Amino acid sequence: MLNIVLFGPPGAGKGTQSKRLIEKYGLMHLSTGDILRCEIADETALGIEAKKRIDKGELVPDSIVIGMISNILDHNKYSAGFIFDGFPRTTVQAEVLDEMLELREMKIDRMLALQVHEDELKKRLLIRGQKSGRPDDQDIRIIERRIHIYGETTAPVIDFYLKQDKYSPIDGIKTEEEVFAQIESVIKEILSSDQ
Ligand code: AMP
Repeated sequence: MLNIVLFGPPGAGKGTQSKRLIEKYGLMHLSTGDILRCEIADETALGIEAKKRIDKGELVPDSIVIGMISNILDHNKYSAGFIFDGFPRTTVQAEVLDEMLELREMKIDRMLALQVHEDELKKRLLIRGQKSGRPDDQDIRIIERRIHIYGETTAPVIDFYLKQDKYSPIDGIKTEEEVFAQIESVIKEILSSDQ
């Protein structure tokens, strides 16, 4: 089993690289952002509550996203592994994820942290907003708020995995192929040390 946290600020390329990882390694993609957008589209109580925060560029409460992840882990016990995309986004989420995995005799193998500077993130998000129609990608003030929250609340999650010796920085400025090549070389190293 291979469990990866694909980490990085909004617009770093987590979704794009996740698709490649799923194709190549048959992992299950677990994106809290995607799940929340489905809840919003279905107009569920959870979706209506989450939309208020997402539209402002704020994080959704830990308890909501933790509940979603716990459910999915329970329903996909026989997966080849998971890509956690956009989760954990707070240190509390990272701590609870470790507990949830331990209960199921699983663990995170590595945090792959995509690194992209702020100007490039803003540029990418505005372009994505034109194509996807995502409201939180169309307003520069919301984008700046999300990047700010990433720095304040989410980036400290790096320390959590650094302490466990599981942190691998990835240069996210390169082409999609070059970024994936860096990711693959880390994964090969993990798989070979497992044998
Ligand atoms: P994403 O698609 O990962 O950029 O997520 C879109 C939005 O969903 C974020 O800006 C947050 O408002 C919310 N969200 C997604 N994942 C989380 C999480 N792990 N914790 C809190 N809020 C989240």
